[in-house]
Amino acid sequence: MRKRGADMSLCDRCEKKDAYIHWNSTIKSERLCLSCYNLMLTDMLSVEATSYPDGVTIQDGEGEPHHFRLRKTLDPIGVIMEAEELVDGGYQFTVHGELDVDQGQLFLELIAKAERGMAEIYIQKGEFPNGQHFHSLINDRLVGRIESDLSDDQIPLVAVDGKSYTWNEVGKMLMSYEGFQVKLEMIDRFEEIEWENGMAVLDEDFEDE
Ligand SMILES: [Zn+2]
Repeated sequence: MRKRGADMSLCDRCEKKDAYIHWNSTIKSERLCLSCYNLMLTDMLSVEATSYPDGVTIQDGEGEPHHFRLRKTLDPIGVIMEAEELVDGGYQFTVHGELDVDQGQLFLELIAKAERGMAEIYIQKGEFPNGQHFHSLINDRLVGRIESDLSDDQIPLVAVDGKSYTWNEVGKMLMSYEGFQVKLEMIDRFEEIEWENGMAVLDEDFEDE
């Protein structure tokens, strides 16, 4: 039995772990687990994926613990490490290094990026006197990740603070900002959000002093 569900299948090589990557070569197309994929890339690139923990728990800015699954992927363009919180709208962080990167250092960079990325909480929940709940922006700004909505193929969700919100919910949070301007910029997952002021600022030169 290889099929385990609609989208889940086992690795074509080891037939033990879940397939993670669809690999197309000129010879054949295979679905591979991360271990088999990295082994194949090690043969091709002469770079080995050094061992790393499966998971790590990191606290956000309010001291709430978040558990992340860690993944390292060898790629012809370099080494990619990802931390993914396995809940709907959960935090995700990605770092990338050259093939000869110090992989231990890359791991530390990932953890540091996750800590910075969770330092500021953007949305708070409030309650009207009649008991009805509402959400509002704590510091008049938010950082999120665009995610597909499995129940709606027209409009994506926005993941903020490790939770999913609909654009309708985000729109309601903006009701109190009538007349304000808004800045919306798409940043790819390898980059890092930087604010011009406030907690999320990352100034490496400053830290090195
Ligand atoms: Zn495998």
